[in-house]
Amino acid sequence: MRALIWNGVNNLRVETVPDPEIVQPHDAVVRVTMSSVCGSDLHLLGGYIPAMKPGDIIGHEFMGEVVDTGREVTKVRRGDRVIVISIIGCGQCEHCRRTDFSCCDNTNLKPLMAEAIWGHSPAGIIGYSHALGGWAGSHANFIRVPFADVNVFKVPEEIPDEKALFVSDACPTGFMGADLASIQPGDIVAVWGCGGVGQMAMQSARILGAERVFAIDRLPERLRMAAERCGAEPLNYEEVDIAEALTELTGGRGPDRCIDCVGMEAHGTGLTYLYDLAKQQALLTERIVALREAILCCRKGGTVSVMGVYGAFVDKFPMGAVVNKALTIRSGQQHGQRYVERLFGHIARGEMDPSHLLTHPLPLEQGPHGYDLFKNKKEGCLRAVFTP
Ligand SMILES: [Zn+2]
Ligand SMILES: [Zn+2]
Repeated sequence: MRALIWNGVNNLRVETVPDPEIVQPHDAVVRVTMSSVCGSDLHLLGGYIPAMKPGDIIGHEFMGEVVDTGREVTKVRRGDRVIVISIIGCGQCEHCRRTDFSCCDNTNLKPLMAEAIWGHSPAGIIGYSHALGGWAGSHANFIRVPFADVNVFKVPEEIPDEKALFVSDACPTGFMGADLASIQPGDIVAVWGCGGVGQMAMQSARILGAERVFAIDRLPERLRMAAERCGAEPLNYEEVDIAEALTELTGGRGPDRCIDCVGMEAHGTGLTYLYDLAKQQALLTERIVALREAILCCRKGGTVSVMGVYGAFVDKFPMGAVVNKALTIRSGQQHGQRYVERLFGHIARGEMDPSHLLTHPLPLEQGPHGYDLFKNKKEGCLRAVFTP
């Protein structure tokens, strides 16, 4: 089959590789029909996540058709149109039983590096380096998915592919960002980052009863989508001082709930940004411009929910603000399996609609070009989606 291969830092190519097959009785093999780029892939491309090996297939947000199942699989069958949650649960460990699927004990088969960095290993992630399981990714004709009964979900007939696809990752990640923020009806919510996850967090905040949602970014086309598709009020940080604007717009209080959908490769302005950038190049910190700002802007007693990806350590973390403003900080990789059925319902009723994220449908053979458009935000690219 053909697959998009990581070949070194900022070096991708499409190659012919062996087809995957059923290895464990709980596996399924899925023929991929659509596979999206994701912001977290950029950390792999840039070399910020260790333990990539030349030849690794990347990609983790996808849908397709089940073509084969192991003998223990009962929930999905050959021919089913499905999405697959990008973070793999086993369904049986104590974390999966608590529905904290991204904390699964059993799906990172190579946990030593994660344990060394983080104390414990999280779940394995599809197409996301040997530090997180070494599972082959989805930018390929076929993919093997373990624990299919836990991670593979049949798509309801009324939901078209271009909406279903994003229930694999962007929708549940954004929804979890809003869920962890403990949004109450009437709350004012600010979301840093207007990529796919940020926009889904904005739609989710609306679903959970937010009265006003502010969208923070620097790209006009993304801010426009946030306004038109997500009912958010756009704030461009290259044009306004975000802290001042949010203070003014909330009568001096600050937003009740702040959601970071940016992560460690934030762009920014000012001295602390340059400090982060210089130290990140020496692998000493990650850029936390957005998170710092979210913490400083959040109202006293509010909640900061962190869905952006961070890999290791950050500098100048404003712990004083967290303590003295009595903030709650919550975070996590998505527990998508917990939210899938609910999200299908929101999508079927038109309350959530991710279809506009798909700006650049491309054949898989143009994978490297798709990542170039996405990474460098060319042609208004929000998501390149490959069809193998
Ligand atoms: Zn992702
Ligand atoms: Zn588990």
